[in-house]
Amino acid sequence: MALEIKLSHSKTNKIKVTLTNKYAYSIKLLKWNTPFDAIVLNCFDIKLQDEEPCKYKGPYAKRIFKKTKSTIEIKSKESITQEINLSDFYHLNAEALYSVSLKYNDVLVIKGEKKSKLDDFKPIKLKSNIVKAHLYPTNRINKYFNKINNNTIPNKKRIKTIDAIPSCPPNNICYLSYNDGGECYRTKYLSFPRIYPNNNSQTYILKNDYLNLNKKEILKKIKIKNDSLYKKWFGVYNNTRSSHVKKVINGIFSNRICKNFEMFITNTNCEDDTIAWFWPSPDINEYYHRLGVCYKNYFKLKSNGFNSKPGTLAHELSHGYGKTNSNLKEIYGIKNCQNLARKTPEYAIRNADNYQYFLEEYLNF
Ligand SMILES: [Zn+2]
Repeated sequence: MALEIKLSHSKTNKIKVTLTNKYAYSIKLLKWNTPFDAIVLNCFDIKLQDEEPCKYKGPYAKRIFKKTKSTIEIKSKESITQEINLSDFYHLNAEALYSVSLKYNDVLVIKGEKKSKLDDFKPIKLKSNIVKAHLYPTNRINKYFNKINNNTIPNKKRIKTIDAIPSCPPNNICYLSYNDGGECYRTKYLSFPRIYPNNNSQTYILKNDYLNLNKKEILKKIKIKNDSLYKKWFGVYNNTRSSHVKKVINGIFSNRICKNFEMFITNTNCEDDTIAWFWPSPDINEYYHRLGVCYKNYFKLKSNGFNSKPGTLAHELSHGYGKTNSNLKEIYGIKNCQNLARKTPEYAIRNADNYQYFLEEYLNF
């Protein structure tokens, strides 16, 4: 074993992670899905004896590979260290002695000084330890969730509702969403997403991306069947898997009338290689889910083709309403997602980018 990760308990709910490169040459490490990522830290198993691991309550994100920003170079015989406050990312119920370990036993690296493309990274097994740590309960809603653009976000309960009913025949009534306005499209009512800030040119673009995604779906009416497009993104067809795919896709479009998420145009939780993120609400009675678009990257995307703006929104909504990736490493990129479909369909149907690419192709973006 030439890559070693050591976990140790530093103080209160903090864990120190040290990765040592024991190879005779330097390596480049892909940060995603590792403790060295700054945004998504769904990479630990934190357990009380035989119980289920504690729930991850941090964000999920859509990434774009950038040679310098998505990787860390580690020279031969050198180490990198990171301290993580578990309270920001996990829900801990009780004060107790937990065992903390890495959820995945490999990382993606390039050996040596080679030029790097995302496809060039290869998995390498890790040697890692389990650390026993005396941890304290976390608040259901932490400061980290609550701060966006350095503002504290209003509590959902403060939002006024109105009692108007849209004139197109909706099959569902949700008063909360009408407060933000909406429009009829064909026979469907489309409520506008709530966006912060709500008054600039980017707000207008984002609102239209969301509406376009939904309008295309209304026009096309997605039917999941055993065809080449399904196979390309979700692998070999069978009834169990295809009904899971249906569920996720219904989930993505389920919020058209009754929305319980809000969008932020932001730089918060945006590393240089982050396009957008979805942060499930830690308590839906108090707060909506949050979908952030990172303005430095999101608005550079096109409206059509793969990795489009509307497709990115579908990716994020699949985290919130389709339950993609709750316990799997997130896989990104066209080629990687096609490989996933070919080799492990079970995995592909749980990976957000596979839905994004499928929908972009199906809906003709
Ligand atoms: Zn994602």
